[in-house]
Amino acid sequence: MIQVPRGTQDILPSESYKWQFVEKKLFEIAKNYNYDEIRTPMFEATELFVRAVGGSTDIVNKEMYTFQDKGDRSLTLRPEGTAPVVRSYIENKMQHNVEQPVKLFYLAPMFRYERKQKGRYRQFVQFGVEAIGVEDPLIDVEMLSMLMHIYQSFGLKNLKLVINSIGDIDSRTQYNKALVEHFSPRIDEFCQDCQTRIDSNPMRILDCKKDRDHELVKSAPRIYDYLNDESKEYFERVKSKLDDLGIKYEVDYNLVRGLDYYTHTAFELMSDSEGFGAITTLCGGGRYNGLLEMMDGPDKTGIGFALSIERLLLALEAEGIEIPEEKGIDLYICTMNDEARDTAGTLLHKLRSRGISADMDYENRKLKAQMKDADRKNASFTIVLGEDELSRKSADLKEMATGEAQKLSFEEIINTLEEL
Ligand code: ATP
Ligand code: MG
Repeated sequence: MIQVPRGTQDILPSESYKWQFVEKKLFEIAKNYNYDEIRTPMFEATELFVRAVGGSTDIVNKEMYTFQDKGDRSLTLRPEGTAPVVRSYIENKMQHNVEQPVKLFYLAPMFRYERKQKGRYRQFVQFGVEAIGVEDPLIDVEMLSMLMHIYQSFGLKNLKLVINSIGDIDSRTQYNKALVEHFSPRIDEFCQDCQTRIDSNPMRILDCKKDRDHELVKSAPRIYDYLNDESKEYFERVKSKLDDLGIKYEVDYNLVRGLDYYTHTAFELMSDSEGFGAITTLCGGGRYNGLLEMMDGPDKTGIGFALSIERLLLALEAEGIEIPEEKGIDLYICTMNDEARDTAGTLLHKLRSRGISADMDYENRKLKAQMKDADRKNASFTIVLGEDELSRKSADLKEMATGEAQKLSFEEIINTLEEL
């Protein structure tokens, strides 16, 4: 028997209504903050991710679904959203748009070859936003505010926003030097990845999942002490505006994020809920100032975040928050014989084309079973069609909630339901 590929899942009707609910809310909040949707292809030139995400990251090293197409091009299923959005910004010359920053959001499946785990899939759906073109602490704050707004709008409470500044490229160069000095003498005590990282990107040693408890990680120099005055001031302005807005956060000097191009503000949102398992990160993001230039684009900066719907739903489950199931149809037609079933088919066609949701029995069941079916489908009204009804072209329109019925012609039934 062929099964769903490892690390992927079918989202059945018993779950899909939750996705619809969440996605609708995300679209609403994006609109509140005046972000517009962008849709980029599901696959891109492999080179895009190698360059933009960076050769020293897990995504590029271990997790990409890369293939040759029949034209011998190397393509990769999109593992993350920022690189494609930035590619599109550059390709469509959005730096010339009248409105800046260009504020974009996406809601799209991502693909990563990862170890399967609760909250970790090989295909997962990310909602992400990017504001490209302006560097201003107020935009960083807008983004954090939107992020908190999203999670709180579902009623989630056990949230912890963690922020840090990794400074500008200047500050980072100084900091990286200090890290190399700090780790070099004992780097052989670290995992293989970290031994590579010390040359390629020393800051990412602080992000290592294997070595996070090593004493040298705990005693490592703090990025804050290496921020130049400009970077410090930028960070202070972000924090004081967050205080102003009453958005609670913690500063974690070891928060460096996995990707190479981040500068200034970096952040993660964690769930504090018990039973959330090993995975606690709901969302991550930050400012990227070198990325556009690195991709041969204009000298512009951006900031963004991404969250997955899968982990958002896990967080809701962990806090016992239920999503309302809006199930129901306007009318269920019960039928007593074949001719009635035929007429019901015609009526359904008319009802639906007038915007009324309706259904009938297709299994020739007894009236009692059809009534049960109407209940299960949460029908607001029912009619029963038998010989009499067909000859009079009328039926009793029964309201299920009250039990009240009205004798109406077929045409009147359609009109009444349409008005309601
Ligand atoms: P992690 O440390 O959990 O691997 P990451 O740093 O790889 O996360 P990002 O690339 O920043 O994650 O992606 C942003 C968000 O997307 C994460 O915070 C998480 O909510 C979600 N996410 C990442 N990978 C997966 C996955 N394999 N399955 C489901 N959600 C994911
Ligand atoms: Mg990951």
